[in-house]
Amino acid sequence: MLRINELKLPLNHPEPALREAILARLGVSGADLVDFSVYKRSYDARKKAAIVLIYSIDAEVRNEAAVLARLKNDQHVMPSPDVDYKFVQVGKPAPGTPRPVVVGTGPCGLFVALVLAQMGLNPIILERGKIVRERTVDTFGFWRKRKLNTESNVQFGEGGAGTFSDGKLYSQIKDPLHHGRKVLTEFVRFGAPEEIMYVSKPHIGTFRLVKMVEQMRAEIIRLGGEIRFETRVDDVLIEESGGVRQVVGVRLASGEEIPTRHLTMAIGHSARDTFQMLYDRGVYIEAKPFSIGFRVEHPQSLIDVCRFGPNAGNKLLGAADYKIVHHASNGRSVYSFCMCPGGTVVAASSEEGRVVTNGMSQYSRAERNANSAIVVGITPDDYPGHPLAGIDFQRELESRAFVLGGGTYDAPGQLMGDFVKGRPSTEFGSVVPSFRPAVHLTDLATSLPDYAIVAMREAFVAFDKQIKGYYKEDAVLTGVETRTSSPIRIKRNNDDLQSLNTRGLFPAGEGAGYAGGIMSAAVDGIRVAEAVATAMAAR
Ligand code: FAD
Repeated sequence: MLRINELKLPLNHPEPALREAILARLGVSGADLVDFSVYKRSYDARKKAAIVLIYSIDAEVRNEAAVLARLKNDQHVMPSPDVDYKFVQVGKPAPGTPRPVVVGTGPCGLFVALVLAQMGLNPIILERGKIVRERTVDTFGFWRKRKLNTESNVQFGEGGAGTFSDGKLYSQIKDPLHHGRKVLTEFVRFGAPEEIMYVSKPHIGTFRLVKMVEQMRAEIIRLGGEIRFETRVDDVLIEESGGVRQVVGVRLASGEEIPTRHLTMAIGHSARDTFQMLYDRGVYIEAKPFSIGFRVEHPQSLIDVCRFGPNAGNKLLGAADYKIVHHASNGRSVYSFCMCPGGTVVAASSEEGRVVTNGMSQYSRAERNANSAIVVGITPDDYPGHPLAGIDFQRELESRAFVLGGGTYDAPGQLMGDFVKGRPSTEFGSVVPSFRPAVHLTDLATSLPDYAIVAMREAFVAFDKQIKGYYKEDAVLTGVETRTSSPIRIKRNNDDLQSLNTRGLFPAGEGAGYAGGIMSAAVDGIRVAEAVATAMAAR
């Protein structure tokens, strides 16, 4: 099989043009092209009136060696790399080894569990929240009726934090072993659209994610895994001998203890009580940088026209996204994060008396607003003192937002023009906010530290140079965005992925500070499953 990269065709090319372009590029006749498939498809929209599709193609040709030899100087034609997933080859665990335990059923925990189950290691999976259908009822109940269930919400429950999301599946992680391909392949097997395998920025949308998560659960159970919901891990049992700390089990909120010597903690970035418990048990934890800011809503049509010009609305391109950054004069970087085209801003609280925002969409991305977090990078120097100080900092900002929003789980909001000019907003303009229960117009100036407010005021104006129309007087800002990533890192060894000071503890995914997003969390899950299997065999 040959891989052809950088094969460029106009956006609206007729279907046969792709085959013709392959023949021309390889210099072979139609009879010599046995078959081909699209490996990746992206686009170049720098010239809006002449958007170009860029293909990577896998082509099966007769006399492959001769074609390769003839094209040896063409850096875009090569043998297709092998991207199939290979399970790690390790022996079976010694008889009597307790089953591995995985805490959390976000993308990370699900992939740890799936791969362990596929290897015949019968994991036990513990999830504090409810099964995804019941969790959906609780989450929508909060959005509609302001009734927060602190154990079943946007952050907690089957599928983890990414379930009610845009389901963006791209990531910038290095992935030399093509684990991302395994993630996409499994997602398609569990119901994701086939196109996620080849479009450059795949997304799934919320409703499909719900169905996929159910299919994954069924497969893990079919392979011998056991999943327990509404089962919170409240303690980790650690034995210390000769200076070595070894996990020997977990204690649940019910008081029940489950023995294990291989414990994956894939608990996400919002399990603040569990972070505290791990810290109290002496597990090595460091503070790490994260970001704070607001969600911003513009009309999606504005972003589409700005990005795609006369091609706005083209089905192949879909709703346009954006990625912007501004380095403010006070030294802070302000950037877009988790942009959701044609989506809605959602209430993502998991603690009472606190407001936090995020974004989601359906597969169609057909809602009228584009939303994105616009955030300012911060470091532990901004919240010094203690490894968990970032959590206190987040809580403080989320509590402030609750009060500013009127104390009813409405989110505080402001029009962009008023925010930049430093005056409170009293009336919405043309942009109707999507956040539920509601946006309470106010002055956001006190919602974040001054350095963040100053940097964002500057950035909104500067962004207009990158996206014409971005500085829009009546674009709506909704606060606050604080859970952009974990405020801590539960550090692990690079080789065996076990905690720096606790054997048998595998910190994993976003909460542990080793992922940021669905794809990177799932990839980390595969890596951790391999590490668990290796450690179990070595015992
Ligand atoms: P999580 O998904 O957070 O899962 C952790 C799980 O652990 C939770 O289910 C939790 O209930 C459980 N848990 C925690 N503590 C315990 C305990 N003590 N006992 C038992 N169970 C416990 N990323 C993208 O890439 N694309 C997107 O489009 C996107 N959109 C998002 C939209 C929203 C609204 C949110 C909130 C996040 C979004 N993200 C998105 C981020 C993405 O969801 C996370 O990066 C990802 O889910 C992290 O995966 P994880 O498995 O590490 O942790």
